[in-house]
Formats: sequence, structure tokens, C-alpha cells
Amino acid sequence: MIASLLERGGDLVERADVCVIGSGGGGAVAAAELAAAGLDVVVLEQGHHWTAKDFSQREDEMLPRLFEEGGMRATKDGTVTILQGRNVGGSTVHNLCYALRTPDPILRMWRRQHGLESLTRDALNPSFARVEKHLRVKPIRDDEVNALNRIIRHGARQMGYSGFVTKHNREGCVQSGYCILGCSYDAKQSMLVTYVPRASQAGARIYANARADRIEAEGGRARRVLGSVVDLDGAVRGSIEVSARAIVLAAGAVASPDLLQRSGLGGSRVGRHLHVHPSVMAAGFFDDEIHAYRGIPQSYYIDEFIDLDADPQRGYVLMPIAAFPVLTATQMPGFGREHFHWMKQYARMAGLLVLLHDRSEGRVRPGHSLSRPEIEYRLNADDAQQLAQGLVHCAHVLFAGGARRVVIPFSPEPLVLERGDDPREILRRGVRQGEIPIASTHPQSTCRMAADATAGVVNEWGEVFDTAGLFVADMSVFPTSLGAPPQITTAALADRTAHHILERRAELFA
Ligand SMILES: Cc1cc2nc3c(=O)[nH]c(=O)nc-3n(C[C@H](O)[C@H](O)[C@H](O)COP(=O)(O)OP(=O)(O)OC[C@H]3O[C@@H](n4cnc5c(N)ncnc54)[C@H](O)[C@@H]3O)c2cc1C
Ligand code: SF4
Repeated sequence: MIASLLERGGDLVERADVCVIGSGGGGAVAAAELAAAGLDVVVLEQGHHWTAKDFSQREDEMLPRLFEEGGMRATKDGTVTILQGRNVGGSTVHNLCYALRTPDPILRMWRRQHGLESLTRDALNPSFARVEKHLRVKPIRDDEVNALNRIIRHGARQMGYSGFVTKHNREGCVQSGYCILGCSYDAKQSMLVTYVPRASQAGARIYANARADRIEAEGGRARRVLGSVVDLDGAVRGSIEVSARAIVLAAGAVASPDLLQRSGLGGSRVGRHLHVHPSVMAAGFFDDEIHAYRGIPQSYYIDEFIDLDADPQRGYVLMPIAAFPVLTATQMPGFGREHFHWMKQYARMAGLLVLLHDRSEGRVRPGHSLSRPEIEYRLNADDAQQLAQGLVHCAHVLFAGGARRVVIPFSPEPLVLERGDDPREILRRGVRQGEIPIASTHPQSTCRMAADATAGVVNEWGEVFDTAGLFVADMSVFPTSLGAPPQITTAALADRTAHHILERRAELFA
């Protein structure tokens, strides 16, 4: 059952074996695995239950519907935009479907440097296999590589940079290109069309417009979730109380630490160690129209500048990016006529992102309201230098791919490079927060896994150190920055946590 508490009206009082908070990349997986094994599961999702018929392919309608703070969530100082989903299915509803497993050197580092001995490839393989089966992960076919990604692949090959066409989780994709606004064709195998229906068919009661406000524990054990029925603007329309013998917190790496801190749970490390995979963009302008926004947005992936075997804590990848007009406009330099000049060339524009495997850290703290946690993040000097170096490589790839001009959206003065100019000018300008748009689609690590409570918030199975029966199953449990697209790792760790709960069934649900 998937029900909107807004449409149903009134308050909600429920009792369940497990209450799952959040229905995105981690929560939906945990809910489905637990319900399929016969447990009584209630899911609380603050967002609305939008489906394919609601995905209008219009930015002005979909950004407010699908994204936290209407797509305007940002760090406290406004220098880093953070995109996160707020709907049944979470951020997977508008993600871009790169589907890669956790890199082996990252698992090795988590074992050796963070004491997480059981996180081996062999131990995770059953979880990866289940997740990839349900998300229908497969290689992207060559005929599915769109014009933007072909240009980037050509540029990378010209430069001799290593890259590959990735796997994805799409089935019957008509290559419309609207992934980031939700898939109107139900082709994207997001949680909305995979694990959420699976959980519902297995008997889970999934409530939309149901925000968890507080988790209560008694005698060191998780007991209940208190919350609010919220409308589309977040206004409170009723109250929620769910008593449960286990609670799985999967509200994402911003809301999960916020909720724990508001509940006085999780210890002193909650909200710390925020990594965001910060990204900056270069825009190439071509003589011919590319219509970069048509077709599968991201399929090629340049991994030349990340060697996790050599250094598991450093490096960056380059990813093609095509945004819709409003998002593009936020990245383009200038005002008035100057801005118009750049936007007129929209159809001839190709973007390339640097996505950094960051060591810089930030912090999430409760803000003045539940929907607006306070987020801080500062780039350290080495990370800023790597982003600048990455932009130089972006410029090389775009020129080698045929661009006549490359623009780096520095503010207030964009850097315009003509073919033949030396892109190392980017290094002289440098990447400084507030002087170039920085975006994050992968906030993580704010309730990190660790060997004990002095270093993190949850143990290697996702259980909160100071609260028995309270588990975290979302991107916030990553011990460090992942350095790769995170949805498969998030889902696999959530699957593993769910199966751990099932193994402890007799003790937890006695
Ligand atoms: C634009 C974009 C593109 C991306 N592209 C890729 C990609 O190509 N490949 C990849 O691997 N990853 C990608 N990702 C990341 C991927 O989507 C995430 O790894 C994954 O969704 C994380 O799952 P999660 O459970 O941590 O959080 P989410 O999926 O964000 O789910 C959290 C859920 O909790 C709900 N919630 C929050 N607070 C509360 C509360 N108090 N009460 C109840 N519910 C609450 C939210 O509404 C949300 O539905 C992308 C992300 C974005 C934003
Ligand atoms: S490109 Fe494919 S997955 Fe993306 S919105 Fe279009 S049909 Fe859906």
C-alpha cells in the first residue's frame, strides 16, 4: 500500500516491526528486503507520491516538486548547491543512472583504515547482485550514447585519456533526455518503479507526506518515531506516531544527521565529516548544434585522473553534463545582454563536469526548521587545486572534441578561452568558493561507519552505537568520500543492513 497522508487526512498512529524513514536509494531497499522476509514494515516519506503522469518535463514544475528546497538547497554561505530528492523514491527519481559498484581500493581502505573488517568484496557480492537484478543494471549500448557523450568520448580519445561507457539502470528508455526531471516513461529503474512497489506488494505500508520529526529511545533502545503529516509546502496538517521494534533511518546525508541531533541520539560524531563530491563545470561552444540535452544525459565517464589503487583518497572524474535551460542559466556568466548572449547558444553548448573525490569536510547541524538544516562545507587548498586542474583537463577535452570556445563560469568575470589559448590560465585564477558555481549531488558520510563511537556513528552493520535497534541505511554511512557514483553502494549497504536485521530477528523482535 502506498498512501498519501495528505489525501487520507487526520493523524496516524501505527505499530510495526520496523519503521523506515525515507523511501530513496537506501530506505526503499531496506523496506522491500524486510517486508519480503515477512516483517511488518511502515515507511514514512516526507515527500509526495509523484508518478510518471506527473512528470511534466518542465523545470518550473518539477524542481519544486522533486527537489529539497525547490532545488535551491545550499550550504549556509551559499557557495555550494546541494541537490537532493524529496518524493517517494528520493533522489533516485531524478538521478542520472550511472550504476557502478564500490571500487575495490575504497573497500580496502574502509577495512584497513576504518576497521570495517567485514566490508569485503565477497561479503558484499550477494547484495550487489540483488540490487543490480532489481534495478536491471546493464551496460549502455553504443547506439544509446548521445551527441554530447560522443563529443566528450572523441575529445578524451584525442587527448589519450582513459574513459569508458558505463552501466545504467534503464529499461525501455526512449532517450528523451529528461531524467533529471523524473522519467515520464517509467524507463528509469528508480526506487519509485522498482523497490517501492516491491515493498508495497510484500505488505509494507508506505506513507507519503509523512515527515519524521523525532526518534525516541528508551533504555538505550529505539522505540518510536514521532512526526507530522506535511503538505507540499511542508506545512503541518496532522501528527504521526509509529511504535516499532527497529527503526531504519534513511533520510539522506543531510536529514538523517539532522534528525539524530534533534533526537539527542548518535553521539558526538553525528553530522561531522560531510563530503559532497563537489563539482565544477566547463562549457564548450561548438559551430554546429549538438542539442546536448537530447538522449541519455550521461553515459561516458573519464577516469584518467583517479587512480584509487595508487591513492584511495585523491582524484577526480570528468562527466558530461547537459542541463535544462533554467539550471544552465544559473551556471552561465553575466547579466542582461551578456547572459542572453551565452544562453542564445544553448543548442551548441556541451558541458563537462569535474567531480572530486574530496577530502575536505563539512558539517550538518539542525537549522531553524526541519526542512532547512544548516550545512557547512569548506574546500581545502589541495581539493581546490585539484578542481582547478580538472577544469584545465575539461578544456582540453572540449577543444579536442571540436569546441571553438570554452567558458569557465568564474564570477564576476568569466574566463573565455578561444581555441589555441592556454587553459592553464584556469590555474592562475584558481577555484575559490563563491567565485565559481559549485554543485553537489552526492552529500555523504555524516553518520559514518566506524569501528567505535569515538570515530563514527554506526557500526559496520549500520546500527547506531548508542541506540540498539536504530540503523542508518543511506549515503550518510560512507566512512569516507566514495570517489564513484554512489547509488549502487548506497543500495547494497542498505540491503546488507536489512539482511543483518533479519539475522537478528529472534533478538530484535522477540
Ligand atoms: C541530480 C542527481 C543525479 C545523480 N546521479 C547519480 C548517478 O548517475 N549515479 C549514482 O550512482 N548516483 C547518482 N545520484 C545519487 C543517488 O541518487 C544517491 O546515491 C541515492 O539516491 C542516495 O540515497 P539516500 O537514501 O541516501 O537518499 P535519497 O535517495 O535522497 O532518499 C532520502 C529520502 O528521505 C526523505 N526524507 C528526508 N527527510 C525525511 C524525514 N524527516 N522524514 C521522512 N522522509 C524524509 C527524502 O524526501 C528522500 O525521499 C544522483 C543524485 C542526484 C541528486
Ligand atoms: S532518457 Fe530514458 S530514462 Fe531518462 S527520462 Fe528519457 S526515457 Fe526516461
